[in-house]
Amino acid sequence: MNNNSLLSHRTQEPEKGILYIVGTPIGNLNDISQRALNILKKVSLVACEDTRQTKKIMNKFNISNKLISFNKHNSSIKIPKIVKDLKEGKSIAIVSDAGMPGICDPGEDITRSVKSEDIDIICVPGACAAITALVSSGLPSSSFVFEGFLPRKQSDREIVLLEISKNKKTTILYESPKRLIKLLKELLEFCGGDREIMVARELTKKFEEHIGNNINNVIEFFKDKEIIGEITVVIRGIRKRDFNPNKSIIKKDLNDLIDAGLSLSAASKYLAKKNGLKKSEVYNLI
Ligand code: SAM
Repeated sequence: MNNNSLLSHRTQEPEKGILYIVGTPIGNLNDISQRALNILKKVSLVACEDTRQTKKIMNKFNISNKLISFNKHNSSIKIPKIVKDLKEGKSIAIVSDAGMPGICDPGEDITRSVKSEDIDIICVPGACAAITALVSSGLPSSSFVFEGFLPRKQSDREIVLLEISKNKKTTILYESPKRLIKLLKELLEFCGGDREIMVARELTKKFEEHIGNNINNVIEFFKDKEIIGEITVVIRGIRKRDFNPNKSIIKKDLNDLIDAGLSLSAASKYLAKKNGLKKSEVYNLI
């Protein structure tokens, strides 16, 4: 795309053969932009994750346009059709159930496929739960890691948790209310109870809450409560005072290395270096 065509895309009107990635609210419908409404009104069709969700926005702002469903279950059939329509000159908007399409939702699959066909994509930005939680957390926000949902498989999950526990940058996670307590207990194990954290619940909605300020307090707050609503978790990166080596993991690694044939001394030396400990501290674990 040359500079001239980029300039023309800055207008309000949708253009032929372009995929518009349209950000929609994460709760408060008034957060939608004028530009997003205009695009939703004027494109040839709107591909949405769940037509019922998108209809709420369309109805509130009196927009009637053709909606097609596009989600993880039908993407293999719908993506080629959307690509064909774009090549034939239709303008298409894609929206997800909430926030920015492509952030932990099926928007990612379609942008990759469309880009690989050399079709232009224009983003009409909107709310994103990760960024909304980050900037309201009060935690360092100029450099951060977004992990989305942690893997469900325990061994994969522990690899990411270990990375989070050692990372100096702020981490943002999405979690379902049903699994929040499990996640908080894992964070306690890996990062220690003093690590600063903010759990953002129901951002931009009527019952918005920001719960902090460290892992111990947050577990105490949610203990014995029924947790409902949308949740985003922001965890401060490690600082010297938070250093909390995960003893059970180091012990397991030590046993694995010894089983694999390393001497206790060599295995301890290796793990001490890897975890920023003294060799004697690793020794003491067994
Ligand atoms: N595309 C969306 C975005 O830009 O934020 C995220 C989609 S992902 C499928 C949905 C997850 O985002 C939820 O499970 C929750 O973790 C987070 N989320 C969405 N809306 C939220 C809100 N209002 N408050 C807190 N977290 C929210």
